[in-house]
Amino acid sequence: MWSVVGQNKAVTFLQKSLEKNSLAHAYLLVGLPHVGKMTLAVNLAMAINCESDERPCGKCASCLRIAAGKHADVQVIELSQIVDSEGESKTKISVEQVDQILHSVNLAPYEGKYKIFIVDGVEFMSIGAANRLLKTIEEPVQNVIFILLTSNQGLVPATIVSRCQRVELLPVAAETIEQGLVGIYHVEQENAKLLSRIANGCFGWAVSAIRDDALIQQRKEWLDAWREMFDADYDRRFTFAAKMVEKYTQNRNVVQQKLDLLLGWWHDLLLVKAHCGQDIKNIDYQNELNKMASGYSLGQIRVFIDRIQSAKEQLRLNTNHQLVMEVLMLNIPESKNVENLVA
Ligand SMILES: [Zn+2]
Repeated sequence: MWSVVGQNKAVTFLQKSLEKNSLAHAYLLVGLPHVGKMTLAVNLAMAINCESDERPCGKCASCLRIAAGKHADVQVIELSQIVDSEGESKTKISVEQVDQILHSVNLAPYEGKYKIFIVDGVEFMSIGAANRLLKTIEEPVQNVIFILLTSNQGLVPATIVSRCQRVELLPVAAETIEQGLVGIYHVEQENAKLLSRIANGCFGWAVSAIRDDALIQQRKEWLDAWREMFDADYDRRFTFAAKMVEKYTQNRNVVQQKLDLLLGWWHDLLLVKAHCGQDIKNIDYQNELNKMASGYSLGQIRVFIDRIQSAKEQLRLNTNHQLVMEVLMLNIPESKNVENLVA
C-alpha cells in the first residue's frame, strides 16, 4: 500500500506505469515544499524494488530497508552547504554529489531490481552539476531510475525537464490533511483541524508541526508581530520594514513565509467580511479576525491583499527591497475602530 496522503492522482498514475511495466527512466516530481514529494519518491522506490505481489507492500525486506534509508540501491541526494568562489555560503547540489551518482550509475544493482537516485531540490543544482546530470539522463542506463524533486520547476533547466516524466503533486485538501493527522498520527481532533487549515495544503508541514511545537510557536510570534503593525505609527512600521529587509538578505524564504502569513490573515479577513468565516485558516484567531474585520471595508481588504501579493513578487524580482517593504507598510489600510485591533 502506498502511504502517501492526498496524492491519489499521482499515485494512480505511477501504480499504472508499474503494472504496465512502462516506468520512465527519470521522473520529475513537482509540488510545494512539504507537500509530500519525498514521501512519494520513497514509496515509488519501494514499489519498484518490492519483493511482494502487491507493490509496495511496506513489509518485505526491501520495502523495510528503503523506508529506513538503508537500501544499498536507493540513494537520496539532498542539498548541501557549499562556499562559492566569493566566499559566500550557499545551499546547492554540488558537482561532487552528482559525480558520486555518476560513479555508481554504471554498477549493477547490489540488492534490488533497480538502482534508484532520488535528488531533492533539483532547482538548486549548480550549472556544472545540472550539465553532468543531464548527460546521464540523456543516455538511460538499464535498471537505473532517477526521481528528481522540485518546488520550483521554473528554476530547473528546461533540458532536464524535457527528459523527465513530470508528475505534479497538488496541494492537499484541508479535510484530507485533518483525516490523515487523526487516522495515521492520532492527533487530537481540534489540533488536527487547526494544523490542517494552516498547513496550506502541505501534509508534510502538518506532520512536522505535530513533532515540533516550535513551528506553531513561530507562526504565533510572526502573526502577533504583524498584528502589532496594523495600528502602529510610521516610525515603528519603518523599523519593522528595516528588520525585514535585513532578514531578506540572510534568508529570503523566511521573509516570503512571513508575507504568506500576512496574506493568509488578510484572506481570512476577506472571508469573514464576505460571511464565509467558516472557511478561514487561522481558526485559533477567530475572535480577533471577527473584531478586526468590522473596522475595514471589503474594498480596503481587497486592495491590501493585492499590495501584499505585489510586494512578494517585487521582492522575488529583486526590486529595491527597502522601498518594497516601506511601501507595503505605508499601505496598511486604516481601521475605523483602531482600539479593537490588538486584543
Ligand atoms: Zn515490499
